[in-house]
Amino acid sequence: CGIVGAVSTRNIVPILVQGLQRLEYRGYDSCGVAVHGASIDASRHGTARGGLQRARSTARVAELLEQVQAEHVDGATGIAHTRWATHGAPAVHNAHPHFSHGLGVDAATQQAGRVALVHNGIIENHEELRRSLQARGYVFASQTDTEVIAHLVDSHYSGDLFEAVRATVAELHGAYAIAVIHKDEPHRVVGARAGSPLILGVGNAGAEHFLASDAMALAGVTDQIVYLEEGDLVDLQLGRYWIVGKDGAALTPAQRPVRTVQ
Ligand code: GLU
Repeated sequence: CGIVGAVSTRNIVPILVQGLQRLEYRGYDSCGVAVHGASIDASRHGTARGGLQRARSTARVAELLEQVQAEHVDGATGIAHTRWATHGAPAVHNAHPHFSHGLGVDAATQQAGRVALVHNGIIENHEELRRSLQARGYVFASQTDTEVIAHLVDSHYSGDLFEAVRATVAELHGAYAIAVIHKDEPHRVVGARAGSPLILGVGNAGAEHFLASDAMALAGVTDQIVYLEEGDLVDLQLGRYWIVGKDGAALTPAQRPVRTVQ
């Protein structure tokens, strides 16, 4: 239902959660956040926690905030989601972000994920994709259509998250806005949209970058917004971003201008 994502140098969890709160009016049945624990300066935040961390809840976003504080989920790169269930009951194990642990690893082992992903929309061919991923050894932890996307990204990953997402969306039929992070790339969020809205926010004079399903989620954080179009893929890193259109060509700032919103 709602997506927020960020690549920054400061702890981004309060902004992600506040963004979810600004999207609460749309309604939701569960919510969650995932961060890259190694994205933040360990010297300021105690022990370095490498890898992906996540918190999910079927309660209000305010309670998710208490959970992330209690569990010390913090990082400078992260994604967050409010879910309105379409496939799979409203429950913590179906809440986003979804992890892929890689081939053959059962999520029940509680290992940290390799890929974390949030999604708005519906994947029409999820059953067929699920069957082929299961045949290859992927173990599913939810009943959602979304989880297939996380495993597909893992299956296409060979060191470059943007290329893995590009290959993944080519296999999807349906509507999606997604935001994805990978354990091996602590300062990167990749997004894509087709049939569901997604915008890019440019913060702190271009030093940090955000994704959201609605500019309203970033109110008070940045008013510098790029409206992504159908089929766009976006690569957010520290101090730079990159947008590729549906024909695969990189887009210029004139093609996707930064606009100041009220
Ligand atoms: N179809 C996905 C699910 O049921 C995403 C729903 C949404 O857009 O929140 O988990």
